[in-house]
Amino acid sequence: MNISSRIPGFYKMSIEERKNYIIESFNLSDEDASRLSSQLSLPEETADKMIENVIGTFSLPLGLGLNFLIDGKDYIIPMAVEEPSIVASASYIAKIVREAGGFKTEATERIMIGQIQVVGCPDFKQAKEAVLAEKDTLIHAANDAYPSLVARGGGAEDLEVRIINEEGSPYSQMLIVHLYVNTCDAMGANIINTMAESLAPVVEHLTNGKVYLRILSNYADRCLAKATCTIPPALLESEGFTGEEVRDGVVHAYEFAASDPYRAVTHNKGIMNGIDPVIIATGNDWRAVEAGAHAYAARDGQYSSMTTWSVDEQGNLVGELELPMSLGIVGGASRVHPRAKLAYNILKVESAKELARIIVAVGLAQNLGALKALVTDGIQKGHMALHSRSVAMAAGATGDLVDVIAKKLVEAQEIRVGYAKKLMEEYAK
Ligand code: NDP
Repeated sequence: MNISSRIPGFYKMSIEERKNYIIESFNLSDEDASRLSSQLSLPEETADKMIENVIGTFSLPLGLGLNFLIDGKDYIIPMAVEEPSIVASASYIAKIVREAGGFKTEATERIMIGQIQVVGCPDFKQAKEAVLAEKDTLIHAANDAYPSLVARGGGAEDLEVRIINEEGSPYSQMLIVHLYVNTCDAMGANIINTMAESLAPVVEHLTNGKVYLRILSNYADRCLAKATCTIPPALLESEGFTGEEVRDGVVHAYEFAASDPYRAVTHNKGIMNGIDPVIIATGNDWRAVEAGAHAYAARDGQYSSMTTWSVDEQGNLVGELELPMSLGIVGGASRVHPRAKLAYNILKVESAKELARIIVAVGLAQNLGALKALVTDGIQKGHMALHSRSVAMAAGATGDLVDVIAKKLVEAQEIRVGYAKKLMEEYAK
């Protein structure tokens, strides 16, 4: 059963009410329900087996992105993030896009890349030919190193060879072998590294060179996911602004980011504001996705906007986001961290491709949320009102006092820790 992601008034519920709502609507097992209990976020004994020198765990707020309709299916999206207004903004835009028919997404095959670096070949051209002549044998050998992946329908599928740093380069000439592997539902870092390491001796033999690096490339440009949305201007209308004004402002904001790296970095940071929280909540490697996404944003030689925004013939605002998505629904921390396990049971995704498609839709929503605010009231109005609670806590407020102080900060339009401390002193008197 597809549970609606429209939950009016969810934000007004207490944490306990929200938990109960999710437990009941998803009919969560006792085990999953217990994963929502604060003591069981990540047991220290589990943490101690995940990394080294553990002295404890570090928590982040876990919220739910609502209203998402993606390819006709409702998704409630777990987001682990510390920054206020991200979850609210994504949910707000998802509601608008939902009224316009929802997000449409697609994903390529999940082909990840393993790199083998060969230096010191006596003849690089000959070495390249020798490797290519044995391409099928090498692919076969890579698959022999990971038969279980082949049994799942994946495995090494192709191989390419490049010579880099030819004459005139300040760096050593080298031969780079790319092994293309369908990693199925895993991100595939360990799979690829195992395969690349297994091929190294044969590659050395074929090239008469020396192999140094044998590792996954995080530039996963054959493992892409794309989300689009088409929004009639009437749905973009905002207090004091017509829908057309908002639409045109968004397009101009995109053009700014497309042509100016100083703006593009911030524009793209806003996109990652939506993407990283889902990557984290699902136990995936956010550094891997970040690195690939920013490299992809510079694929034409200049760092640029990850999204595009345009106006179609009917006057609708059309947004698109395509990014490499090196992630998995198995492996890494995805099936180890209790809250990540819970996240999968809320998301109900069946493949890594499906997760990738959802995540780019969230990134696109997040981008529109930021741009819409920027071209209308400015980002501070909504953000600072939500940020005021963090400011109150930074000034030492606890319990009910947090909301009391936060409200006063917003009323005075002075959302600063110094002012919050002054209010606290007055309150203490
Ligand atoms: P794992 O090493 O945990 O491997 C996933 C394993 O899951 C597979 O090897 C496979 O093992 C099993 N599996 C079960 N079902 C499936 C399925 N449907 N499709 C595919 N595999 C399945 O995870 P990854 O190899 O994905 O590695 C991810 C981790 O590697 C992340 O934690 C990341 O941080 C880390 N890492 C990242 C690097 C980078 O980004 N450059 C470098 C090194 C590590 P079996 O076939 O035996 O069942």
